Amino acid sequence: RAKETGKARCVVYNARHSSPSDHDISLEAAMFQAVREGEFVLYYQPIVDAGTREIEGFETLMRWKHPTLGMVPPARFIPLAETNGLINLLGAWALKAACVQLRQFEEAAKRSLYISVNISPRQFRNDKFLDVLDDAIAYSGLSGEQLVLEITEGTLMIDPVHAESILGKMAERRARIAIDDFGTGYSSLAYLKNFPISVLKIDRAFIRDLPGSQKDGAICNAVLDLAKHLSLSVVAEGVETEEQMQYMRERGCRYVQGYLTGKPMAANVAVAALTERHYALLCQDQPQRALG
Ligand code: C2E
Ligand code: MG
Ligand code: MG
Ligand code: MG
Repeated sequence: RAKETGKARCVVYNARHSSPSDHDISLEAAMFQAVREGEFVLYYQPIVDAGTREIEGFETLMRWKHPTLGMVPPARFIPLAETNGLINLLGAWALKAACVQLRQFEEAAKRSLYISVNISPRQFRNDKFLDVLDDAIAYSGLSGEQLVLEITEGTLMIDPVHAESILGKMAERRARIAIDDFGTGYSSLAYLKNFPISVLKIDRAFIRDLPGSQKDGAICNAVLDLAKHLSLSVVAEGVETEEQMQYMRERGCRYVQGYLTGKPMAANVAVAALTERHYALLCQDQPQRALG
């Protein structure tokens, strides 16, 4: 095991142009330990119908509960896992566990829901990815449509020919594809025409300064118009205020995801939210909201 960790460190050194900080290296070593100790957990953030405020689905967001560092945010450990390849293991676990978790959410809600899972560029390119996907679907017994796979524009653009083939195979399994952080990547719009995309997630950078910012408003309107004509659904990310929610809803955005309608939460809290008629009560249990 120690040997494995040693090797992974070498990979990090070689793959980077600048040398990683000492902090990154110790974090990385701790990550292998964390997998063995089961310190990675999944949180779930509601994706809500902006009109009815019903929870339609959840995005799965990984958390690392480190015994002394506390919660390590994914922005710290996902890039390291992407570099050393651990993302394939973590990602496969997350996909399967999230699919299984959805069954419990549906039992609590007594209706059909969907689960959205982030797929990193390296996972998407991994030879085993379709096997991992098939295993998660078969093991959980979900139907393909209940699974949304979130990828970024960057993931598609690394190798568009390969991407088209993988997306076709995902579509055969009826899993839906969402473009995450839409509008922030380097890409052409042509992929919207050629690839089987179902959902656009507008990045929270375009939502944050609404309704005041005319420029962000123009961008959101353009995305909503494009989505309408291409029959794509749109999720607004990072909705924190009633004004932002209203602004997006009035312009035809059907789904929102943000602190206003629920922070990422542990599975048992999500179950409670689903059984509460007015789960908004749970959203108030947040410092930001209490201050506002
Ligand atoms: P993402 O997929 O774009 O996820 C949305 C991020 O926005 C999450 O950050 C979420 O907590 C945050 N967020 C949601 N609503 C609000 C809001 O109203 N205000 C603000 N300020 N933030 C909000 P998180 O959980 O820290 O995750 C960051 C990124 O890490 C994710 O961005 C995703 O790219 C990556 N990530 C997380 N979990 C996984 C995973 O299981 N696999 C992979 N490959 N990547 C993951
Ligand atoms: Mg995402
Ligand atoms: Mg996103
Ligand atoms: Mg994002």
